[in-house]
Amino acid sequence: MTASKDEFPEPNFSDLGVDADIQAGLRDLGYQQPLAVQRVAIPVILEGRDVSMRAKTGSGKTAAFGIPLLQRIDRRRRRPSLLVLAPTRELAAQLGTELRAIGKHRGLEVATAYGGVPVEEQKKRLQAGIDVLAATPGRLLDLSQQKAVRLADFQAVVLDEADEMLSMGFFEDVTKIMDACQGAKQVIILSASLEQDTAALVDRYTRDVIRIDLSADKLSVEGIRNIYYLIGDDLPRHHYLLHVLAVEQPHSAIVFVNTRQDAGVLTTVLAREGWRAEMISGQLPQRERERVMAAIKDQRLKLLVATDLAARGIDISHLSHVINFSLPEDPAIFLHRVGRTGRVDREGTAVSLVSGKRVHTLGVLERQFGIKFERKEFPPATEMTKLLNRARITALLEAAGQNIADGYLALAGEICSHPRGHEIVAYLLKRHADSVHDEKRSLDNRPQAEPPRRRRRRSPPRRRRR
Ligand code: AMP
Repeated sequence: MTASKDEFPEPNFSDLGVDADIQAGLRDLGYQQPLAVQRVAIPVILEGRDVSMRAKTGSGKTAAFGIPLLQRIDRRRRRPSLLVLAPTRELAAQLGTELRAIGKHRGLEVATAYGGVPVEEQKKRLQAGIDVLAATPGRLLDLSQQKAVRLADFQAVVLDEADEMLSMGFFEDVTKIMDACQGAKQVIILSASLEQDTAALVDRYTRDVIRIDLSADKLSVEGIRNIYYLIGDDLPRHHYLLHVLAVEQPHSAIVFVNTRQDAGVLTTVLAREGWRAEMISGQLPQRERERVMAAIKDQRLKLLVATDLAARGIDISHLSHVINFSLPEDPAIFLHRVGRTGRVDREGTAVSLVSGKRVHTLGVLERQFGIKFERKEFPPATEMTKLLNRARITALLEAAGQNIADGYLALAGEICSHPRGHEIVAYLLKRHADSVHDEKRSLDNRPQAEPPRRRRRRSPPRRRRR
């Protein structure tokens, strides 16, 4: 199923969304094509996501975070925007040199701060106005105490070689700095290994993080198993989704669709089949969003159906599955979606329904992001029917939950022992499905209570504290 290299040419810097003036800097450096790590990281970081990246020196990691973060700097701010922390002077100096070269044609000012150089010189440089600072933790804290730099000004922070920084005893300094960086809306943590301490930093200072593992030969989005089912056009797509749910038996999942219309139809179909499913849309009032989020978190709700837009900015962790009802048009969105599962300490599964027409997209994703897809087949028809029925029974039992009216129990017993009892049950099931359908339809046709809201920007002190 993988496509030939010629059919899917590797992306260049423009394809990844890199601006012309940054590309000019890359040309000066002799970087003609993005390296693997850059193909994965640039689009995600350009979108403003937090990233934890396992990458070694020599992989091209500096440009992988440097290119997108430099591009995101607003030059009109006239305040330091990007902080890159490194464990050693040498690395801080090297980072400064590379970032300066990349940002040269954009007019970005890059400074460095590390011990062994008179602090006064560095203070003067900071006073003159800078956009980027590459620093070691000790010297940065000195400069901050002397009020030469305000840590709260930085909008993005990178911890480079975080594992080294911790093994050199900088844990306290790093946490002090991170806690003071209250304006940082984006955090990137790089490390060659993901030991417990580094994982703790990721957990504490990142939000909705995408974890990328570039340490092996093949890139992978860490902790996520990517599987796909090839579907035909003999059945409507939502039937295949029901099959996937019956086979995979997700504990909790978000089902991504490409249009609001699909979201509405799908939620109705799922409810009709007895699944505890709800849709979130951009038009839901905040209180409703919170109710739905709380329901999925404490497992009263099993499935959340959402478009990419509606799912933006909501914190859904602990999902066992991410299901792509349709593949997104933009490959970078795929990473956003699957990043919703496979959080710290758990393996998540991303399942995609792929039609013959879209198989080539898997080739693009494999090439661009190094994702390894496993193909799974549905079991034979008789086995499938059994699984579907088992899923329905589970769903009905869960829906019944506490809601069984005692008055009906005796009658139910008699129906079950009646020779034509199964006909009655079949009739009741059909009535039940129809009533869910009608109820959903009347809910969907309700006039909207509120006009769509504009999303509020994330407010600065958003980092979790412990
Ligand atoms: P790093 O992993 O950031 O230490 O980078 C390793 C080396 O790769 C450095 O010498 C970079 O100058 C070089 N490099 C980074 N990106 C590219 C690229 N796209 N093409 C060629 N060389 C690169």
